[in-house]
Amino acid sequence: MTSQLPLRQQFSRAGFVKEAHRLDQLPDDLGQEIAFVGRSNAGKSSVINCLCRRKNLARTSRTPGRTQQFVVFQCAADQRIIDLPGFGFAKVSKSKRQHWDRVIPRYLQTRQSLIGLVLVVDSRHPLKVEELSIVQWCEDVSLPILVLLNKIDKLNQKERAACRKFVGAELDSGSELVSIQEFSATKVQGLEQAFKVLEQWRTGEI
Ligand code: GDP
Repeated sequence: MTSQLPLRQQFSRAGFVKEAHRLDQLPDDLGQEIAFVGRSNAGKSSVINCLCRRKNLARTSRTPGRTQQFVVFQCAADQRIIDLPGFGFAKVSKSKRQHWDRVIPRYLQTRQSLIGLVLVVDSRHPLKVEELSIVQWCEDVSLPILVLLNKIDKLNQKERAACRKFVGAELDSGSELVSIQEFSATKVQGLEQAFKVLEQWRTGEI
């Protein structure tokens, strides 16, 4: 049975379990899991740490090699966070990129316990082609996605409005499966609203 605790409390109990390179190395496909993905340096690790109220749960790093794995964090017995390999590294080899391109869509398509994907985007450079592909993959399999426009603290009001307009136009699918939220991991902005979306995934409302 899925733990009845709100995700906010469950996340604050998250602990590292393992790293996996292949899908068959992931924990049994039971319970619920929420995955995080993002372009290198968008702030994915900072966002996970912020949501879990931890400084160093997910390792913030500029070193590409470190994040080429699935990193599994257990929250409750039947609730997990999966930190997906980052993408968009200039220096990653072609074979690693091909591995990513193959494995991530397969994970999104086949993982039964996956209840939603959080796409962490640097709001200064929103929605590059790979990010749009990820949204498309989710829509293709009716998987809820939360696009977190991170580093919003770095934008002034005018830039924020432009970002909102651009992203709104790009993702204008009208689907309730796609949520967009401005966020700052550093200044802890957008946390309540992000948890509201995740909670709807947990309870099956979305
Ligand atoms: P990752 O590669 O996506 O996991 O990115 P990290 O979490 O390691 O963050 C990359 C850099 O962006 C670090 O220097 C973070 O301190 C910084 N960063 C992350 N989130 C924010 C944010 O919301 N605001 C600001 N100003 N900086 C951030």
